[in-house]
Amino acid sequence: MEKVFPDHLLPVYHRADVAFLYGEGPYLFAANGRRYLDFVAGIAVSSLGHNHPYLSGALKSQVDRLLHVSNLYRVPEQERLARRLCENSFAHSVYFCNSGAESIEGAIKMARRTHFGEGNESRNRIITMQQAFHGRTMGALAATGNPKYLEGFGPTPGGFDQVEANSVDAVAGAISARTAAVMFEPVLAEGGILPISGQVFGEIRKLCDRHDLLLIVDEVQTGICRTGRLFGHQWADARPDIMTLAKGLGGGVPIGAICVSERVAKHMIPGTHGSTFSGNPLAMSAGNAVLDVVLAPGFIAGVERVSKHLFARGSALIEEFPHLFKETRGRGLLFGLKCQVPNADLVAAAFDAGLLCHIAGDNVLRLLPPLIVTEDHVNEAFEILRSVASVYEIKAGEV
Ligand code: PLP
Repeated sequence: MEKVFPDHLLPVYHRADVAFLYGEGPYLFAANGRRYLDFVAGIAVSSLGHNHPYLSGALKSQVDRLLHVSNLYRVPEQERLARRLCENSFAHSVYFCNSGAESIEGAIKMARRTHFGEGNESRNRIITMQQAFHGRTMGALAATGNPKYLEGFGPTPGGFDQVEANSVDAVAGAISARTAAVMFEPVLAEGGILPISGQVFGEIRKLCDRHDLLLIVDEVQTGICRTGRLFGHQWADARPDIMTLAKGLGGGVPIGAICVSERVAKHMIPGTHGSTFSGNPLAMSAGNAVLDVVLAPGFIAGVERVSKHLFARGSALIEEFPHLFKETRGRGLLFGLKCQVPNADLVAAAFDAGLLCHIAGDNVLRLLPPLIVTEDHVNEAFEILRSVASVYEIKAGEV
Protein backbone atom coordinates (compact mmCIF):
# COMPACT_ATOMS: atom_id res chain seq x y z
CA MET A 1 0.00 0.00 0.00
CA GLU A 2 1.58 3.27 -1.19
CA LYS A 3 1.21 6.28 1.12
CA VAL A 4 0.93 9.76 -0.38
CA PHE A 5 0.72 13.41 0.62
CA PRO A 6 -1.09 15.24 -2.21
CA ASP A 7 0.11 18.77 -3.02
CA HIS A 8 -1.69 21.70 -1.42
CA LEU A 9 -3.28 19.56 1.27
CA LEU A 10 -1.92 19.92 4.78
CA PRO A 11 0.09 16.72 5.26
CA VAL A 12 -1.65 15.63 8.46
CA TYR A 13 -2.91 12.35 7.00
CA HIS A 14 -1.00 9.33 5.68
CA ARG A 15 -3.31 8.55 2.77
CA ALA A 16 -3.43 5.30 0.80
CA ASP A 17 -2.77 6.03 -2.86
CA VAL A 18 -6.28 5.21 -4.02
CA ALA A 19 -9.28 7.34 -4.97
CA PHE A 20 -12.79 5.90 -5.00
CA LEU A 21 -15.18 6.86 -7.75
CA TYR A 22 -18.39 5.36 -6.40
CA GLY A 23 -19.76 2.87 -3.94
CA GLU A 24 -22.52 0.31 -3.79
CA GLY A 25 -23.52 -1.26 -0.47
CA PRO A 26 -20.30 -2.39 1.26
CA TYR A 27 -18.19 -2.08 -1.91
CA LEU A 28 -16.08 0.81 -3.17
CA PHE A 29 -14.95 1.11 -6.78
CA ALA A 30 -11.63 2.86 -7.36
CA ALA A 31 -10.14 4.89 -10.18
CA ASN A 32 -7.54 2.10 -10.54
CA GLY A 33 -10.34 -0.21 -11.77
CA ARG A 34 -10.40 -2.33 -8.62
CA ARG A 35 -13.28 -3.17 -6.29
CA TYR A 36 -12.71 -3.06 -2.52
CA LEU A 37 -14.82 -4.57 0.26
CA ASP A 38 -15.19 -1.68 2.68
CA PHE A 39 -14.91 -2.84 6.30
CA VAL A 40 -13.90 0.65 7.46
CA ALA A 41 -17.11 2.49 6.44
CA GLY A 42 -15.38 5.87 6.60
CA ILE A 43 -14.40 5.05 10.22
CA ALA A 44 -17.88 3.98 11.37
CA VAL A 45 -19.65 6.73 9.39
CA SER A 46 -21.23 5.00 6.38
CA SER A 47 -23.67 3.09 8.55
CA LEU A 48 -25.94 2.17 5.62
CA GLY A 49 -23.05 1.47 3.24
CA HIS A 50 -22.60 3.43 0.03
CA ASN A 51 -25.29 4.77 -2.25
CA HIS A 52 -28.10 3.45 -0.07
CA PRO A 53 -31.23 4.11 -2.17
CA TYR A 54 -33.36 5.29 0.75
CA LEU A 55 -30.73 7.65 2.20
CA SER A 56 -29.74 8.98 -1.23
CA GLY A 57 -33.40 9.56 -2.09
CA ALA A 58 -34.05 11.47 1.14
CA LEU A 59 -30.98 13.65 0.57
CA LYS A 60 -31.84 14.37 -3.07
CA SER A 61 -35.33 15.41 -2.09
CA GLN A 62 -33.97 17.69 0.68
CA VAL A 63 -31.37 19.23 -1.67
CA ASP A 64 -34.17 20.15 -4.06
CA ARG A 65 -36.08 21.90 -1.27
CA LEU A 66 -33.76 23.57 1.24
CA LEU A 67 -30.19 23.26 2.51
CA HIS A 68 -29.85 25.74 5.31
CA VAL A 69 -31.78 28.42 7.16
CA SER A 70 -29.94 28.79 10.54
CA ASN A 71 -31.44 28.45 13.99
CA LEU A 72 -33.06 31.86 13.84
CA TYR A 73 -36.09 29.91 12.61
CA ARG A 74 -37.75 26.57 13.28
CA VAL A 75 -36.30 23.58 11.43
CA PRO A 76 -38.99 20.84 11.31
CA GLU A 77 -36.51 18.08 10.35
CA GLN A 78 -34.46 19.04 13.44
CA GLU A 79 -37.46 18.86 15.74
CA ARG A 80 -38.38 15.47 14.29
CA LEU A 81 -34.90 13.99 14.70
CA ALA A 82 -34.61 15.31 18.26
CA ARG A 83 -38.00 13.85 19.17
CA ARG A 84 -37.05 10.45 17.78
CA LEU A 85 -33.68 10.38 19.56
CA CYS A 86 -35.44 11.25 22.84
CA GLU A 87 -38.19 8.69 22.32
CA ASN A 88 -35.54 6.01 21.83
CA SER A 89 -33.21 6.94 24.69
CA PHE A 90 -32.99 8.41 28.19
CA ALA A 91 -32.78 11.93 26.74
CA HIS A 92 -35.08 14.87 27.38
CA SER A 93 -33.53 17.22 24.76
CA VAL A 94 -30.96 17.25 21.98
CA TYR A 95 -28.51 19.84 20.65
CA PHE A 96 -27.21 19.18 17.13
CA CYS A 97 -23.69 20.00 15.97
CA ASN A 98 -21.38 19.00 13.14
CA SER A 99 -18.81 16.46 14.33
CA GLY A 100 -17.77 14.17 17.12
CA ALA A 101 -15.25 16.54 18.66
CA GLU A 102 -17.80 19.33 18.64
CA SER A 103 -20.27 17.11 20.48
CA ILE A 104 -17.60 16.46 23.13
CA GLU A 105 -16.90 20.18 23.53
CA GLY A 106 -20.62 20.76 24.02
CA ALA A 107 -20.90 17.89 26.52
CA ILE A 108 -18.03 19.34 28.59
CA LYS A 109 -19.69 22.76 28.58
CA MET A 110 -23.08 21.33 29.50
CA ALA A 111 -21.72 19.28 32.41
CA ARG A 112 -19.97 22.34 33.86
CA ARG A 113 -22.93 24.59 33.23
CA THR A 114 -25.27 22.20 35.05
CA HIS A 115 -23.22 22.39 38.23
CA PHE A 116 -22.88 26.15 37.79
CA GLY A 117 -26.66 26.42 37.46
CA GLU A 118 -27.08 24.31 40.59
CA GLY A 119 -24.88 26.73 42.52
CA ASN A 120 -21.73 24.57 42.47
CA GLU A 121 -19.46 26.50 40.11
CA SER A 122 -16.31 24.91 41.52
CA ARG A 123 -17.47 21.46 40.39
CA ASN A 124 -15.91 21.64 36.96
CA ARG A 125 -13.45 18.74 36.68
CA ILE A 126 -14.18 15.71 34.52
CA ILE A 127 -12.80 12.21 35.06
CA THR A 128 -11.86 10.46 31.80
CA MET A 129 -10.20 7.14 30.99
CA GLN A 130 -6.74 6.27 29.73
CA GLN A 131 -6.76 4.94 26.13
CA ALA A 132 -9.80 7.14 25.44
CA PHE A 133 -10.23 9.10 22.24
CA HIS A 134 -12.60 12.07 22.23
CA GLY A 135 -11.38 14.12 19.26
CA ARG A 136 -8.89 16.76 18.15
CA THR A 137 -10.29 20.11 19.30
CA MET A 138 -8.62 21.57 22.38
CA GLY A 139 -11.13 20.46 25.02
CA ALA A 140 -11.59 17.04 23.43
CA LEU A 141 -7.80 16.63 23.25
CA ALA A 142 -7.43 17.56 26.91
CA ALA A 143 -10.12 14.98 27.75
CA THR A 144 -8.28 12.41 25.60
CA GLY A 145 -5.06 13.19 27.43
CA ASN A 146 -2.77 11.38 24.97
CA PRO A 147 0.60 13.21 25.13
CA LYS A 148 1.32 12.30 21.48
CA TYR A 149 -1.72 14.23 20.25
CA LEU A 150 -1.10 17.15 22.61
CA GLU A 151 2.57 17.70 21.78
CA GLY A 152 3.20 21.27 20.66
CA PHE A 153 -0.37 22.43 21.19
CA GLY A 154 -0.11 23.71 24.76
CA PRO A 155 -1.29 25.25 26.93
CA THR A 156 -3.76 22.38 27.30
CA PRO A 157 -7.13 23.34 28.79
CA GLY A 158 -7.31 22.06 32.37
CA GLY A 159 -10.04 20.31 34.27
CA PHE A 160 -9.53 16.63 33.41
CA ASP A 161 -8.43 13.75 35.63
CA GLN A 162 -7.45 10.66 33.67
CA VAL A 163 -7.72 7.27 35.33
CA GLU A 164 -7.12 3.65 34.43
CA ALA A 165 -9.81 2.32 32.08
CA ASN A 166 -12.46 -0.16 33.22
CA SER A 167 -11.69 0.35 36.91
CA VAL A 168 -14.36 1.43 39.39
CA ASP A 169 -11.69 1.90 42.09
CA ALA A 170 -9.72 4.23 39.84
CA VAL A 171 -12.79 6.39 39.20
CA ALA A 172 -13.74 6.34 42.89
CA GLY A 173 -10.20 7.38 43.86
CA ALA A 174 -10.23 10.36 41.51
CA ILE A 175 -13.52 11.87 42.75
CA SER A 176 -13.12 15.11 44.68
CA ALA A 177 -15.30 18.05 45.71
CA ARG A 178 -14.35 19.60 42.34
CA THR A 179 -15.60 16.70 40.19
CA ALA A 180 -18.49 17.48 37.85
CA ALA A 181 -18.71 14.38 35.68
CA VAL A 182 -17.24 11.08 34.54
CA MET A 183 -16.89 10.62 30.77
CA PHE A 184 -16.04 7.48 28.80
CA GLU A 185 -16.80 5.51 25.64
CA PRO A 186 -18.91 2.34 26.13
CA VAL A 187 -16.22 0.66 24.02
CA LEU A 188 -12.83 2.38 23.98
CA ALA A 189 -12.61 2.24 20.23
CA GLU A 190 -9.48 4.02 19.00
CA GLY A 191 -7.74 2.82 22.18
CA GLY A 192 -7.99 -0.85 21.19
CA ILE A 193 -11.69 -1.88 21.01
CA LEU A 194 -11.98 -2.37 24.77
CA PRO A 195 -15.57 -2.65 26.05
CA ILE A 196 -16.39 -1.20 29.46
CA SER A 197 -18.02 -4.08 31.30
CA GLY A 198 -21.69 -3.78 32.27
CA GLN A 199 -20.72 -4.26 35.89
CA VAL A 200 -18.16 -1.40 35.80
CA PHE A 201 -20.67 0.80 33.98
CA GLY A 202 -23.31 0.15 36.66
CA GLU A 203 -20.87 0.77 39.51
CA ILE A 204 -19.76 4.06 37.96
CA ARG A 205 -23.41 5.10 37.66
CA LYS A 206 -23.85 4.37 41.37
CA LEU A 207 -20.74 6.46 42.18
CA CYS A 208 -22.17 9.30 40.09
CA ASP A 209 -25.47 9.12 41.98
CA ARG A 210 -23.72 9.00 45.35
CA HIS A 211 -21.52 12.02 44.56
CA ASP A 212 -24.04 13.95 42.47
CA LEU A 213 -21.89 13.67 39.32
CA LEU A 214 -23.03 13.57 35.71
CA LEU A 215 -22.29 10.51 33.59
CA ILE A 216 -21.27 11.40 30.03
CA VAL A 217 -21.09 8.60 27.46
CA ASP A 218 -19.15 9.31 24.29
CA GLU A 219 -21.13 7.34 21.71
CA VAL A 220 -19.57 9.05 18.70
CA GLN A 221 -18.31 5.66 17.48
CA THR A 222 -20.57 3.24 19.38
CA GLY A 223 -23.91 4.98 18.73
CA ILE A 224 -26.56 4.14 16.11
CA CYS A 225 -26.45 0.32 16.26
CA ARG A 226 -22.68 -0.02 15.86
CA THR A 227 -22.51 -2.33 18.88
CA GLY A 228 -25.70 -4.24 18.12
CA ARG A 229 -27.85 -2.00 20.35
CA LEU A 230 -29.15 1.40 19.23
CA PHE A 231 -26.71 2.95 21.74
CA GLY A 232 -23.64 1.24 23.17
CA HIS A 233 -24.51 2.05 26.79
CA GLN A 234 -27.67 -0.01 26.42
CA TRP A 235 -25.51 -3.10 26.98
CA ALA A 236 -25.28 -1.92 30.59
CA ASP A 237 -28.16 -1.44 32.92
CA ALA A 238 -27.21 2.21 33.50
CA ARG A 239 -28.52 5.49 32.20
CA PRO A 240 -26.22 8.39 31.29
CA ASP A 241 -26.98 12.10 31.80
CA ILE A 242 -25.29 13.20 28.58
CA MET A 243 -24.62 11.21 25.39
CA THR A 244 -22.62 12.39 22.39
CA LEU A 245 -23.32 11.10 18.89
CA ALA A 246 -21.86 11.76 15.44
CA LYS A 247 -20.41 9.43 12.74
CA GLY A 248 -23.11 6.81 11.95
CA LEU A 249 -26.04 9.13 12.66
CA GLY A 250 -25.52 10.97 9.37
CA GLY A 251 -24.62 7.93 7.25
CA GLY A 252 -21.93 10.06 5.56
CA VAL A 253 -23.27 13.58 6.03
CA PRO A 254 -21.42 15.51 8.77
CA ILE A 255 -23.48 15.64 11.95
CA GLY A 256 -23.14 15.54 15.71
CA ALA A 257 -25.62 15.46 18.56
CA ILE A 258 -25.60 15.94 22.32
CA CYS A 259 -28.50 14.18 24.01
CA VAL A 260 -29.15 15.29 27.60
CA SER A 261 -31.37 14.61 30.58
CA GLU A 262 -33.80 17.20 31.91
CA ARG A 263 -31.40 18.01 34.75
CA VAL A 264 -28.85 19.23 32.19
CA ALA A 265 -31.33 20.67 29.69
CA LYS A 266 -32.79 23.18 32.06
CA HIS A 267 -29.46 25.00 32.49
CA MET A 268 -28.80 25.47 28.77
CA ILE A 269 -30.76 28.69 28.43
CA PRO A 270 -30.73 30.98 25.34
CA GLY A 271 -27.24 32.21 24.49
CA THR A 272 -25.33 29.48 26.37
CA HIS A 273 -24.37 27.48 23.25
CA GLY A 274 -24.70 27.60 19.48
CA SER A 275 -23.19 27.06 16.04
CA THR A 276 -24.14 28.37 12.60
CA PHE A 277 -24.60 24.97 10.97
CA SER A 278 -26.21 23.32 14.01
CA GLY A 279 -28.97 20.98 12.85
CA ASN A 280 -29.25 22.22 9.30
CA PRO A 281 -31.99 20.67 7.15
CA LEU A 282 -29.61 18.60 5.00
CA ALA A 283 -27.88 16.96 7.97
CA MET A 284 -31.22 16.45 9.73
CA SER A 285 -32.68 14.72 6.66
CA ALA A 286 -29.71 12.38 6.70
CA GLY A 287 -30.21 11.62 10.40
CA ASN A 288 -33.92 10.99 9.96
CA ALA A 289 -33.33 8.71 6.98
CA VAL A 290 -30.70 6.71 8.89
CA LEU A 291 -33.11 6.32 11.81
CA ASP A 292 -35.91 5.25 9.44
CA VAL A 293 -33.69 2.37 8.34
CA VAL A 294 -32.11 1.31 11.64
CA LEU A 295 -35.34 1.56 13.64
CA ALA A 296 -37.28 -0.55 11.12
CA PRO A 297 -38.34 -3.89 12.63
CA GLY A 298 -35.63 -6.53 12.38
CA PHE A 299 -32.70 -4.22 11.55
CA ILE A 300 -30.99 -4.32 14.95
CA ALA A 301 -31.60 -8.07 15.25
CA GLY A 302 -29.88 -8.42 11.85
CA VAL A 303 -26.82 -6.53 13.10
CA GLU A 304 -26.65 -8.83 16.13
CA ARG A 305 -26.94 -11.93 13.94
CA VAL A 306 -24.15 -10.82 11.58
CA SER A 307 -22.05 -9.81 14.59
CA LYS A 308 -22.26 -13.34 16.01
CA HIS A 309 -21.01 -14.67 12.69
CA LEU A 310 -18.22 -12.07 12.61
CA PHE A 311 -17.00 -13.06 16.07
CA ALA A 312 -17.20 -16.77 15.17
CA ARG A 313 -15.09 -16.16 12.04
CA GLY A 314 -12.67 -14.11 14.14
CA SER A 315 -12.23 -16.94 16.65
CA ALA A 316 -11.71 -19.46 13.83
CA LEU A 317 -9.04 -17.21 12.30
CA ILE A 318 -7.20 -17.03 15.62
CA GLU A 319 -7.30 -20.83 15.92
CA GLU A 320 -5.88 -21.16 12.41
CA PHE A 321 -3.18 -18.52 12.85
CA PRO A 322 -2.31 -18.39 16.57
CA HIS A 323 1.08 -16.82 15.84
CA LEU A 324 -0.57 -13.83 14.17
CA PHE A 325 -3.71 -13.21 16.22
CA LYS A 326 -4.45 -13.44 19.91
CA GLU A 327 -8.04 -12.49 20.73
CA THR A 328 -11.28 -11.00 19.43
CA ARG A 329 -12.50 -7.77 20.96
CA GLY A 330 -15.52 -5.52 20.78
CA ARG A 331 -19.27 -5.65 20.41
CA GLY A 332 -21.65 -5.81 17.48
CA LEU A 333 -19.93 -4.62 14.33
CA LEU A 334 -17.21 -2.75 16.24
CA PHE A 335 -14.75 -5.59 16.04
CA GLY A 336 -11.07 -5.97 16.83
CA LEU A 337 -8.46 -8.68 16.41
CA LYS A 338 -5.53 -8.29 18.79
CA CYS A 339 -2.45 -8.98 16.63
CA GLN A 340 0.85 -10.64 17.53
CA VAL A 341 2.53 -9.06 14.49
CA PRO A 342 2.32 -5.37 13.47
CA ASN A 343 -1.37 -4.58 12.78
CA ALA A 344 -0.44 -2.02 10.12
CA ASP A 345 1.36 -4.73 8.06
CA LEU A 346 -1.81 -6.84 7.98
CA VAL A 347 -4.02 -3.83 7.16
CA ALA A 348 -1.71 -2.94 4.26
CA ALA A 349 -1.70 -6.53 2.94
CA ALA A 350 -5.51 -6.71 3.22
CA PHE A 351 -5.76 -3.47 1.25
CA ASP A 352 -3.63 -4.94 -1.52
CA ALA A 353 -5.93 -7.99 -1.51
CA GLY A 354 -9.08 -5.84 -1.83
CA LEU A 355 -10.28 -5.50 1.79
CA LEU A 356 -10.38 -2.17 3.61
CA CYS A 357 -9.81 -2.52 7.35
CA HIS A 358 -8.18 -0.25 9.92
CA ILE A 359 -5.87 -0.24 12.89
CA ALA A 360 -6.76 0.58 16.51
CA GLY A 361 -4.54 1.14 19.55
CA ASP A 362 -2.88 -1.75 21.39
CA ASN A 363 -1.92 -3.40 18.09
CA VAL A 364 -5.48 -4.25 17.11
CA LEU A 365 -6.81 -4.77 13.58
CA ARG A 366 -10.22 -3.10 13.46
CA LEU A 367 -13.22 -4.07 11.34
CA LEU A 368 -16.09 -1.57 11.11
CA PRO A 369 -18.30 -2.83 8.30
CA PRO A 370 -21.41 -0.90 7.27
CA LEU A 371 -24.38 -2.07 9.33
CA ILE A 372 -26.06 -3.50 6.22
CA VAL A 373 -23.48 -6.26 5.64
CA THR A 374 -24.57 -9.90 5.50
CA GLU A 375 -22.87 -13.11 6.61
CA ASP A 376 -21.68 -13.51 3.00
CA HIS A 377 -19.82 -10.20 3.14
CA VAL A 378 -18.24 -11.28 6.43
CA ASN A 379 -17.18 -14.57 4.82
CA GLU A 380 -15.65 -12.66 1.90
CA ALA A 381 -13.68 -10.43 4.30
CA PHE A 382 -12.42 -13.42 6.29
CA GLU A 383 -11.36 -15.34 3.19
CA ILE A 384 -9.21 -12.30 2.32
CA LEU A 385 -7.84 -12.15 5.87
CA ARG A 386 -7.05 -15.90 5.72
CA SER A 387 -5.11 -15.49 2.50
CA VAL A 388 -3.29 -12.45 3.91
CA ALA A 389 -2.43 -14.41 7.05
CA SER A 390 -1.16 -17.44 5.06
CA VAL A 391 1.12 -15.27 2.95
CA TYR A 392 2.35 -13.47 6.06
CA GLU A 393 3.17 -16.78 7.79
CA ILE A 394 4.98 -18.12 4.75
CA LYS A 395 7.04 -14.92 4.43
CA ALA A 396 7.81 -14.90 8.17
CA GLY A 397 8.93 -18.56 7.87
CA GLU A 398 11.30 -17.69 5.03
CA VAL A 399 13.08 -14.95 7.02
N1 PLP B 1 -15.20 10.37 20.17
C1 PLP B 1 -14.96 9.14 19.70
C2 PLP B 1 -15.30 7.95 20.55
C3 PLP B 1 -14.39 8.95 18.44
O1 PLP B 1 -14.14 7.72 17.99
C4 PLP B 1 -14.09 10.10 17.67
C5 PLP B 1 -13.46 9.96 16.35
O2 PLP B 1 -12.96 8.94 15.96
C6 PLP B 1 -14.37 11.36 18.19
C7 PLP B 1 -14.93 11.47 19.44
C8 PLP B 1 -14.09 12.60 17.39
O3 PLP B 1 -14.99 12.67 16.32
P1 PLP B 1 -14.69 13.60 15.05
O4 PLP B 1 -13.53 12.99 14.35
O5 PLP B 1 -15.97 13.57 14.27
O6 PLP B 1 -14.38 14.96 15.57
